[in-house]
Amino acid sequence: MEDCIFCKIAKKEIPSEIVYEDEKIIAFKDINPAAPTHVLFIPKEHIDSLNSVDVNHKELIGDIIFRIKEVAKELKISEDGYRIVNNCGSLGGQTVNHLHFHLVGGRQMQWPPG
Ligand code: 5GP
Ligand code: ZN
Repeated sequence: MEDCIFCKIAKKEIPSEIVYEDEKIIAFKDINPAAPTHVLFIPKEHIDSLNSVDVNHKELIGDIIFRIKEVAKELKISEDGYRIVNNCGSLGGQTVNHLHFHLVGGRQMQWPPG
């Protein structure tokens, strides 16, 4: 995806503060953090949103969630707790159309979300 900002981050064409990377996943700090810890986890492969995930992506999605848990531990927010967010589509509040999961922590979260 040529004009996708997260594809560019995955290819290191745009700088980011990378927290984790393997062949399929990259995690980097959100440029506009909503909490003391705010990391975005994306597949390197361009997938528009959770709506575009198919059966072949099941392992990838599991790997991302597992990795979020591991990184939360490394960032020392596990014990206090944290939140994982996926905004899907326009009513879901998605602004970047490359599938991503937010890991936010370091402050008390509220419910329901805004
Ligand atoms: P969404 O609203 O789509 O769920 O989340 C998109 C997130 O990407 C936002 O929290 C926004 O701050 C973050 N973001 C947008 N552009 C960039 C960028 O160029 N670099 C980084 N690190 N984060 C970005
Ligand atoms: Zn993309």
